[in-house]
Amino acid sequence: MERFDIAVIGGGVLGLCLAFEAARAGRSVVLLEREAGFATRTSANWFRILHGGLRYLQSLDLVRHRESVRARQEWLRDFPGLVEPLPCLMPLTGRGLKRPALFRAAFAMDAALARSRNHGIRPDRHLQAGRVLSAAATRQLVPQLHDPRLQGGALWTDAVAKDTVKLTRALAERAQAAGADLRVGREVQEVVLDGSSATGVRTSDGTRIQSSCVVNTTGPWTDGMLAHLPTIRRRDLFRPSLAFNVVLDRPAPFEGALAVQARRPNAPVLFVYAIESGLFAGTWHAPWTDEPDKVEAPEKELQAFMADLADALPWLDIGPDAVRNVHAGLLPVEAPGSIELTDRPLLVDHGAEGGPAGLLSAAAIKFTTAPQLARQILARAVVPR
Ligand SMILES: Cc1cc2nc3c(=O)[nH]c(=O)nc-3n(C[C@H](O)[C@H](O)[C@H](O)COP(=O)(O)OP(=O)(O)OC[C@H]3O[C@@H](n4cnc5c(N)ncnc54)[C@H](O)[C@@H]3O)c2cc1C
Repeated sequence: MERFDIAVIGGGVLGLCLAFEAARAGRSVVLLEREAGFATRTSANWFRILHGGLRYLQSLDLVRHRESVRARQEWLRDFPGLVEPLPCLMPLTGRGLKRPALFRAAFAMDAALARSRNHGIRPDRHLQAGRVLSAAATRQLVPQLHDPRLQGGALWTDAVAKDTVKLTRALAERAQAAGADLRVGREVQEVVLDGSSATGVRTSDGTRIQSSCVVNTTGPWTDGMLAHLPTIRRRDLFRPSLAFNVVLDRPAPFEGALAVQARRPNAPVLFVYAIESGLFAGTWHAPWTDEPDKVEAPEKELQAFMADLADALPWLDIGPDAVRNVHAGLLPVEAPGSIELTDRPLLVDHGAEGGPAGLLSAAAIKFTTAPQLARQILARAVVPR
């Protein structure tokens, strides 16, 4: 029987980062992904922005801001051929959070807290500090902005990985080069126990793999993966909500990402930017109570999303014919049926909760911070030397 230090179930971005970190730390690690390729589910349908956490300053979540700055820096440093700076522009109308004074304060704070954002990064991948533009300068960047309330624009730079397929390939190659054993088309059917400890996994073709530690990184499938284990205390670990983006057959209104918002009350702020296949718009959130395998955007939600985009970008004449593609996935929320996303990733050591020792479950809430979460998992994975 094959034997590894760590068996990782699920090859999304988190599984791939964990396999790399484990191999780099000298552990023998096998990663088992049930689909024919890696990162084909949630991790294929993301909006591809590696956030520096500017939005977390709004709630003064400095821990998450710092993590995001470091994570963005790491992506730019490690994959400079696949991750590039993305200018982001938010027109400021003086309402709510869209006040020039507020953004000036946020940018000052961001500049101080993210001083080291360009350390170790190739000069052509350096990120400019955010700044507030006048209304005239904002209109120069996007001449179609006719809102008479326009007071200026907030301009900052984040990072983007426009080709997510190539990034996935690079993540897999990096893990393999470090010594990880990566396998696709391998569905794990059960976590195998010996008494009160996890001792490996069994795949659906009956193959048994032994390991000192099993890590369940199956994202929306986290709870299903544990369903056969009677001693798991907490159920409902990953409470799903729907999130989706659309690719539109329309030209980009700005060279980077433009923040847009429909005029109706409580309309969400959305972003649009150009990718190879068209104008990428996102992210729309909606409740989800169905099986993870059935994930897709319901027509009603798609129409609501398109109506907001049409209202916010009237000169693009956005109708149903504009949709080229829809990318949907599930994200964890605080309460079932809500769209209030959790603000921390899932990381559970089941052994510490009276469940099987040597079994951990984890799910990323951001592609951006998956490498850091992988290192946190590894720090908890007890593997005898
Ligand atoms: C619409 C949308 C937009 C987003 N935009 C952004 C963004 O711009 N920036 C950002 O940082 N984050 C973004 N995110 C969040 C990010 O995409 C996720 O946090 C991340 O991809 C989750 O990765 P994961 O590895 O935890 O899960 P997943 O990618 O879901 O991976 C889980 C894997 O487990 C596999 N699996 C399941 N069951 C089994 C089994 N029994 N055996 C073997 N394998 C199994 C699945 O096939 C899957 O590949 C977005 C998410 C969505 C949905």
